Amino acid sequence: MIYLDHNATSPLRPEAGQALASALSVGNASSVHASGRSARRLIEESRDAVASLAGAEATNVAFTSGATEANASALWGAVHGALDQEARLTRLFVSGLEHPSMRATAEAIAARVAGIRLATIPVLHDGQIDVEALRVLLREGKGRALVATMAVNNETGVVQPLEAIGKRVNDAGALWLVDAVQAAGKIAIDFAAWGADYLTLSAHKIGGLAGSGALIVKDGAPFAPMIAGGGQERARRAGTENVVGIATFGAAARAVAGLGDIARQSALRDRFERELSRRWPGVAIFGKASPRIGNTSNFAIPGTTAETAIPALDLDGICASSGAACSSGKVRASHVLTAMGVADALAAGAMRFSFGWSSQESDVDAALASLEKFVSRAIARTAA
Ligand code: PLP
Repeated sequence: MIYLDHNATSPLRPEAGQALASALSVGNASSVHASGRSARRLIEESRDAVASLAGAEATNVAFTSGATEANASALWGAVHGALDQEARLTRLFVSGLEHPSMRATAEAIAARVAGIRLATIPVLHDGQIDVEALRVLLREGKGRALVATMAVNNETGVVQPLEAIGKRVNDAGALWLVDAVQAAGKIAIDFAAWGADYLTLSAHKIGGLAGSGALIVKDGAPFAPMIAGGGQERARRAGTENVVGIATFGAAARAVAGLGDIARQSALRDRFERELSRRWPGVAIFGKASPRIGNTSNFAIPGTTAETAIPALDLDGICASSGAACSSGKVRASHVLTAMGVADALAAGAMRFSFGWSSQESDVDAALASLEKFVSRAIARTAA
């Protein structure tokens, strides 16, 4: 099997596998006996590693069940945490690029909490958030705002203009939640220097286990816990800690911290894209003109659809993603490509190949050979 879908899940890396094995036999981190202390030590070592990956202090990191929970917890936590403060939140600004975990939670808040309005920050053709439009949104309307933006888009790999967004947010006295899930291990994350108030991460995007993530909250930022209970994670997220998942998260964070493998992954991706353009000169590579992380390629070959391409590639043992979203049996164009102004007919062909720690030169050749086979069959069918 040739796995080129690391942005969906990056398979467990060997370092994380070792951490998993060593965490299987430990006790409950709240217990004071030796087995509990071993669990506590694994958790705190992971917290240090995740904090260091994010440019944050360990005391600001709370482990969660993943980034979906971290995004929900940040949004609900900020809204509820600001209820008893003078500056209540009245406006939520969520970019048109966001993952459904951010968008759906923001919609739920706007529907259920009186006095909060939700607006979408538009996206430019190049796949970056429209910073000027954000500035105007922040200026219009009254009351304190929370801005939610991702650092790197999961579909296109486009890196967002974080410095400019941070400046606009800061000038407006707003709060800023950064979904850094796809930035981790691909670009340097600096929670403190970026000036973010909340930041979210996920273990399985960097080779840890799915079901483990982190929410980082700045000291003094409004926050009320979404899950209360036994006071774990400094009362920011109750529940007996998932030591196994957290241990894999820490090991994966240590492995990717130096960004050591990114140049190699970029070389694979760049060769792949050079070959795409050589073999199919009409290919559209989305976000190519923008700064992108080195592992992601999202493209469409006109006249083909991802709905037929992905299963055909799968038959050849190639795992890649369709750029389109599928729900209730209907294939819709990706909301990200639509926000970038890509026409539906072209977006229907969008495929995402994402390289990672396990990717090899031979994977590029196999993916190209399978694509070549698929496209020539598709063209022959159209001509017939
Ligand atoms: N945010 C982004 C940008 C993602 O790509 C994902 C995963 O697809 C998530 C959030 C959700 O992460 P998790 O799978 O840990 O809930």
